[in-house]
Amino acid sequence: MVKDTFRGGVHPDGHKELSRDVPLREFLPAGEMVFPLSQHIGKPAKPIVKKGDAVLMGQRIAEADGFVSAHIIASCSGTVKAIEKRRILTGTMADCIVIDNDGQFTPAADYTTREDPSKLSNDELIQRVQDAAIVGLGGAGFPTHVKLKPKNPDAIRFVIANGAECEPYLTCNDQLMRSQADAIVEGLELTLRLFKNAEGVIAIERNKPEAIAAMQKAAAGKAKIKVLGMVTKYPQGGAHTLTLTGEAVANPGNWIVHDGTLFSELLEHAGGIKSGVTLKKAMCGGPMMGIAMGSLDVPIQKQNNGLTLLAEDPNEIAEAKMTACLRCGRCATVCPVGLLPQPMSEAAADGDYERFEKRLYGLECIQCGSCTFACPAKRPLMQLFKQAKSEILARKRAEAGGKK
Ligand code: SF4
Ligand code: SF4
Repeated sequence: MVKDTFRGGVHPDGHKELSRDVPLREFLPAGEMVFPLSQHIGKPAKPIVKKGDAVLMGQRIAEADGFVSAHIIASCSGTVKAIEKRRILTGTMADCIVIDNDGQFTPAADYTTREDPSKLSNDELIQRVQDAAIVGLGGAGFPTHVKLKPKNPDAIRFVIANGAECEPYLTCNDQLMRSQADAIVEGLELTLRLFKNAEGVIAIERNKPEAIAAMQKAAAGKAKIKVLGMVTKYPQGGAHTLTLTGEAVANPGNWIVHDGTLFSELLEHAGGIKSGVTLKKAMCGGPMMGIAMGSLDVPIQKQNNGLTLLAEDPNEIAEAKMTACLRCGRCATVCPVGLLPQPMSEAAADGDYERFEKRLYGLECIQCGSCTFACPAKRPLMQLFKQAKSEILARKRAEAGGKK
């Protein structure tokens, strides 16, 4: 049985009204396009083009390097201008292929060909997913073709299409379900072919009634697929769609964007910052799990699903109000993983990573931010856990490197 909720969780203000009813529009960028070689977890892709090469939209420009890796595909036509380090949204410099976009978006020969999927074997289906360079939108960008090849596919009982979109502000999944329900159901049916004992569940929070209705209509008569309305709370769970939203945006809305487009070009096209408002914080994604951005002159990557521009910085506000821990236990009550955020924060602040990892299971933290949101003392819990986890993982990588 699939449940419609989970333990813990919080109810932040949704702010969905800013963009939820603005229909999807496509943005065709005019500027240069930047394609980082690592838009996924695992090894970066290897470039298969060089400076001066002409490329077409849909052409593979970098190849997966190993089992857990993903191809990179040009989302415009033009000429390779450079393969060099460019700044990406995390603020770091990363190897990128830069394309002088010719503005024509001329497709590669096989880009618009539609095969009959019923004639493909299961292995061919998975190969098409890999060829399309698809990665997960959960943040890490896990290559989807790897997920489709578990050790024991017959043991899989459910394939869940996650339409929860619980992050405040973001509405691109909502719009996608309302406008492209048939394609989503077709994709789920194809996935179910790979798992013969599984049923498909399309899980949508109940604050999206139009999406639920559209998906129910598309799934009508499909014996192995059901649509499940979920309790609306955080964290219930992004043609690449992206929500441009927040109180600092002049015209919030949902966009079909081409990977490699600079966030700044999309924002300018959409009307820029609202007049009379000062941009205080830019988040790639939503305000709970998004990545704080130092610059908007960085490329949109395929695993990005939102740009939220805030007129207030919630961290600044929290810092000003922060007090000592009240030992109230609220953070533990809301943690969906069942962790103990208060002692974890002490261990992380003390640099006691042994305790953080081995006794408090801190690496299990999904960095949802529910504990930070619920904390009446405004403690920066999730930020501490993020730092502790990256420090522990960096030490593990260094140790593994030293053993080779
Ligand atoms: S950020 Fe981590 S510790 Fe805090 S509620 Fe989420 S999973 Fe639990
Ligand atoms: S919610 Fe905040 S104040 Fe309460 S126990 Fe947790 S860290 Fe302390």
